[in-house]
Amino acid sequence: MRRLLLLGGVAISLPCSVRAADPQIWPRASAVPGGVARIDLGPAMERPRATSGGVPLLVVGDPIVWTALVGIPLSAEPGTAQIDVHTGTARSLAYTIENKRYSEQRLKVSPRTVDLSPEDLSRHERERAHQVGVIATFTEPLPGAFKMQQPTPGRRSGSFGLRRVFNGQPRNPHSGMDIAAPTGTPVVSPLPATVIDRGDYFFNGNTVWLDHGGGLLSMMCHLSRIDVKPGDKIAAGQRVAAVGATGRVTGPHLHWSISLNRVMVDPALFLA
Ligand SMILES: [Zn+2]
Repeated sequence: MRRLLLLGGVAISLPCSVRAADPQIWPRASAVPGGVARIDLGPAMERPRATSGGVPLLVVGDPIVWTALVGIPLSAEPGTAQIDVHTGTARSLAYTIENKRYSEQRLKVSPRTVDLSPEDLSRHERERAHQVGVIATFTEPLPGAFKMQQPTPGRRSGSFGLRRVFNGQPRNPHSGMDIAAPTGTPVVSPLPATVIDRGDYFFNGNTVWLDHGGGLLSMMCHLSRIDVKPGDKIAAGQRVAAVGATGRVTGPHLHWSISLNRVMVDPALFLA
């Protein structure tokens, strides 16, 4: 089956493949909390601008069909959600967030890391406010590709989305992928990037943020060392840091988060 499009007076015939369901396309579509929805915006000569709750979305494709990649928060309720598309006249597009039940983990940890001292609490509040600014980064050029390489070799835990209860107190769900690796193992950039932040944070330890463009960011945490600084341009596969056990951890590993439209989504959707 083919469909015919008329663009600027030129008819283009193309295979009517359902791009959103193609397993060879990254990120893979997964319209669940913590996943990425791929929303077909149809044809247009110019790349449409799209937003979700006022936050700019990454729109990819070409004049034949544009696709909005929408990061869905882990806290999202299943059901109907919408994005706004701004092409001449603004319109809303509805999509469905499917249910996904993540498992729960109960942990006993040092009380200091759960019941924060006033000093630790104010430090954490400052760091959280700083992170709100970092995560809002949206730059061009947009990413040229989305299939990522795993940033460090090692066993991937499937713990994204895990609901964690520390000493009986519910905490934010686990919003990244943990990769088990010894201290000192190189950490590379999964895509071309610009370094936008580095620091030593209370929970995340030594951390570096990489901007891949279009609101797609990587955050690497618990590092033993960081080899780059803000402003550095990084190639895919280039070393940026080394695995460590800094911050709130029980042992050395890489915590890797991916943020899309300011939302932490499952990095596994970007890996082969
Ligand atoms: Zn983690």
